Order: sequence, then structure tokens, then C-alpha cells
Amino acid sequence: MQHYDYVIVGAGFAGSVLAERLASQAGKTILLIDKRSHIGGNAYDCLNEDGILIHQYGPHIFHTNSPEVFAYLSQFTEWRPYEHRVLASVDGKLLPIPINLDTVNQLYGYSFTSEELADYFKSVGEPVEDIRTSEDVVVSQVGRDLYEKFFRGYTRKQWGVDPSQLDKMVTSRIPTRTNQDDRYFTDEFQYMPLQGYTKMFEKMVDQPCIHQLLSTDFKEVKDQLSFDELIYTGPVDEYFDYCYGKLPYRSLRFDHQTLDVADYQPVSVVNYPNDHAYTRITEYKKLTGQEHPKTSITFEYPQDEGDPYYPVPRPENAALYRRYKQLADEQPSVHFVGRLGTYRYYNMDQVVAQALTLYKKLVGIESLQEAVKS
Ligand SMILES: Cc1cc2nc3c(=O)[nH]c(=O)nc-3n(C[C@H](O)[C@H](O)[C@H](O)COP(=O)(O)OP(=O)(O)OC[C@H]3O[C@@H](n4cnc5c(N)ncnc54)[C@H](O)[C@@H]3O)c2cc1C
Repeated sequence: MQHYDYVIVGAGFAGSVLAERLASQAGKTILLIDKRSHIGGNAYDCLNEDGILIHQYGPHIFHTNSPEVFAYLSQFTEWRPYEHRVLASVDGKLLPIPINLDTVNQLYGYSFTSEELADYFKSVGEPVEDIRTSEDVVVSQVGRDLYEKFFRGYTRKQWGVDPSQLDKMVTSRIPTRTNQDDRYFTDEFQYMPLQGYTKMFEKMVDQPCIHQLLSTDFKEVKDQLSFDELIYTGPVDEYFDYCYGKLPYRSLRFDHQTLDVADYQPVSVVNYPNDHAYTRITEYKKLTGQEHPKTSITFEYPQDEGDPYYPVPRPENAALYRRYKQLADEQPSVHFVGRLGTYRYYNMDQVVAQALTLYKKLVGIESLQEAVKS
């Protein structure tokens, strides 16, 4: 049996970045395991049977303010400039979200200036002394009507609980604007990988020192493996056999469809906060820029059962995670990282940064700039 310096569980961003760095820069031997049949984790994309590039696990838009993360990933892909814009279907209209000047003017038939809108928000916003929940955040900024129309239904569908029961971080992620900026993100770097995410991952992990073991659950093979250290990017509670109980996750069902039309909706993502059981529809060609006579779309149905996608941000879950974290900290040769390993709602760039930070620690280098060098 071959001995490895590292076994890495999970070939998503967290596992693949660490495999790439440890193999290419530190000459370590790696066994990269994933229970899925492919690398890329939730960012995996592929051509469907009609040859349209789709994201198997929902739309992934890359955005970051970190020059180091961008420089690091740029070693493995070229980029396509892409600024994400989302519309929400409300009262029979398609309106920009995050809420901005056009959203309010088009919804109510006003013709506010930015200054007038700021005053309007002040007049309808409900003062909340201690902002704790996702409802508090929105109601205090834009008032109850906009909260009900754009946030309440969407959040209830997405998380299965009322925003008044959810930590403020969920809706704090979405800004409110008094100008006409209709970009979903304002980060400095906003791009899509030119040939897709999977091609980028292939470039990262196709190296002689990295052996891939796909379609394999770590649990099934762990007793047969010989290695020095383990990097674990799966769910931390699963690693410890749920000894304190299960950490709650929200999952999704994806309904992928291909339509015999070239164009389906005006932007890549349209949200449905109030109607239908699905939360949003994504049209991939608008993300990827692909030309094709047909178009592929995906409906997202949130659900409790299924693959763990979103850690549910509630205080009792954070407390349960802290108990697992304590166990994790007692295992010096096992490193927990990534969205599932640290039970945190992270974007891709944050996971890359987290993985690079662990790499720095493992090999004893100081700066992030040094960590991303080729
Ligand atoms: C619907 C959706 C949309 C998103 N959109 C965006 C976006 O637009 N922009 C953005 O920046 N981020 C987005 N994200 C977040 C992004 O997906 C994550 O930040 C990123 O994928 C996390 O990488 P990871 O490596 O931590 O986890 P994952 O990608 O989940 O990888 C973990 C891997 O571990 C494997 N694994 C788990 N347990 C085991 C085991 N026991 N044995 C073997 N393998 C195992 C899993 O199969 C999985 O492949 C989105 C997430 C979702 C769910």
C-alpha cells in the first residue's frame, strides 16, 4: 500500500487548493478523495447532453476583493469579465435586486432622486434598537412593505424558517442602494473562468504527486490508508460520527431543463420571492457567454434533506459547532477546512483564502503573497 504525506477528503475548492499547493510547491504526495464521481465540489460544471455548459449544483459566480486569491486562481484559468445582475419577480414586474433607486421607482411608480429615496427609506424604516435577526436588518433599512415583497418569502423558502428566526448575517449580505447600481456584487474582481470551473480544477490537480480517488467515501476506505496527515473538507459532524448530534444544513433540489429557444430570460438569474415553490431560475448561457441555439435553465427548490449545502446560521447551531470545533482542535494531525469542515457560509474566494492560510501554516511561510507564488 502506498504511503501518502497527506490524504485530502473532498476535491472542492478547499481540498483542491491544498492538494495543488502541497504537491506543486512542497513536493508532498497526496491522495485526493471525493465521494462524488468528479472533482470541483459544488462548483463543478459540465456540458449537458445538448452541449450547453451548466453548473450541476446551481449558479456559481466568482467575485473577490483579494488580489492574492485572484492571482492564485489565474494560474489555472483565463477569465471572462462578468458582472452579475439579478432581477426579482414582484407584483408582476421584473425589478433589480439588491433594492436600488430603479427598484423603488418602478415598483411604486415614483420618480425619486437618490436623495429623495434616502429620505423615503428613513421615513419607512422601522427603528430596531438591537439588530439581531435577518428581519431586523431589512425592516430597519427599507421598511415593512419592501421587506415583505422582496425578502420575507424568499428567505422563508430558502431557509425553511421566518427571517425573524435567522441570524442577521443572511440578509446583511444584501446591500440597499439609493443609486442605480444594479450589480449584485461590487467586488474588485468579478469574472467567470473562461472554459468553466471544472477545467480550472483539472489544471490544479492533474499532477504526478496527486492521486485521485473518486466515487469513494472516506469512511469506507480510511482503515486501508497509510498517511501522515489528514485534511478534511467534508462535514465536521460526520467525521465525529455525529457524537453531539447533527449540525443542520439546508439542501437544494435542482431541476435542470433545456429549452428549444435561444433565449429565456433577460438576465442570468431571476428570483421568485413570493410565487412558486422554487426560489430562482438560472439561465447558464447568460453567465458563460456560450452561443447555442438552445438554452439550459435550472429551477432551485430548497429542502431539508439531501446534500449539505448551507449551514443554517442560528445561535444554537453555532453553539453545537463550537463543541465539534473543540474535538477538532484536539486532533493535531487532522485539519478541518472549507464550508463543511468549518460549518461556515463561505463564498468560493473565502474558501480559497482559508485553504491558502492553512497551507501557509502547514509549510511555515509568512505571507499570502508568498503562498500563491508558482
Ligand atoms: C447553490 C449554491 C450556489 C453558490 N453560489 C456561489 C457563488 O455564486 N459564488 C461563490 O463564491 N460561492 C458560491 N457558493 C459557495 C461555494 O459553492 C462554496 O464556497 C465552495 O464550493 C466551497 O468549497 P468547499 O471545498 O469548502 O466545499 P465543497 O465544494 O462542498 O466540496 C466538499 C467536497 O467534499 C466531498 N466529501 C464530503 N464528505 C466526503 C466523504 N466522507 N468522503 C469523500 N468526499 C467527501 C463532497 O463530495 C464535496 O465534493 C454557492 C453554493 C451553493 C450551494
